[in-house]
Amino acid sequence: MSVSEVLISEVGPRDGLQNCKSIMPTDLKKQWISELSRAGIKEIEVGSFVSPKLLPQMADTGEITRHSKTIDGLEVAVLVPNLKGAQLAIESGADKITLPLSVSETHSIRNIRRTHDQVIEEAEAISELIKSLPENDRPHFEGSLSTAFGCTLEGAIDERVILSCAERLMGAGCDEVGVSDTTGYGDPVSIKKLIKAVQGVIGEKNLTGVHLHNTRGLGLANALAAYDIGIKTFDSSLGGLGGCPTAPGASGNIVTEDLVFMFESMGVDTGIDMDALMKTRELLSQGLPDEPLYGFTPLAGLPLGFKS
Ligand SMILES: [Zn+2]
Repeated sequence: MSVSEVLISEVGPRDGLQNCKSIMPTDLKKQWISELSRAGIKEIEVGSFVSPKLLPQMADTGEITRHSKTIDGLEVAVLVPNLKGAQLAIESGADKITLPLSVSETHSIRNIRRTHDQVIEEAEAISELIKSLPENDRPHFEGSLSTAFGCTLEGAIDERVILSCAERLMGAGCDEVGVSDTTGYGDPVSIKKLIKAVQGVIGEKNLTGVHLHNTRGLGLANALAAYDIGIKTFDSSLGGLGGCPTAPGASGNIVTEDLVFMFESMGVDTGIDMDALMKTRELLSQGLPDEPLYGFTPLAGLPLGFKS
């Protein structure tokens, strides 16, 4: 099997489900994740180790992570807001841990109740914990710059603040830094500009992924802009579920089905079987009957003769 040219990281089980009013039953979540993997998705963010009081949708993340670890060849990613979350993630066997650092300090305080300095302290503590593990058991540790293209509470964020956050995350021991357009404020020009600026201070190889939302319909254009400058990992969400409960007005992630369709149409290999991917929507509708699912490709169907 050839190595895919881009990595589609499905974040629906985390970013998607945490923003839904209803809670997807644990058994259906497990089945959904297994089917996504069977469709060729190689990395899935399966949940978030946050307080179940804050996000009851994520209360089963430990169980979901352990289930996901039984799936052959799947990179199991989770989000953690702090050291305690990282401890739980490691106990459950997660392969990748992402700590969000909202470059908008107002959002950071609202989202995870921490200032920038406090998030950096958590990053240092998590990195120490990871280093204390045997080398083969160490999860990959990513710091994610959220609200990087603007914040619904603060507006545009000074680029100097963003670059300093990126440098501090690497200094605290992260293996890489990602940029997130949490609010859907980015456009193809600002996406390229910020990615290059961040790469300029932390090095190209330390920023290889983007997390985009489709709030204003620019998600795919932004993904393509990032791809054009060498970005290889793209977060997206099946059916375009998602958002951020503490960034008012933030809506869904880019739609996995449309993103995969775009790359496959361009001849860029994702390793994903489009028909199998689209079938996994049935489980999502079953688990969340009241939740709208988005995506142009599922609505229109695949073009005649299309092969992924
Ligand atoms: Zn998001």
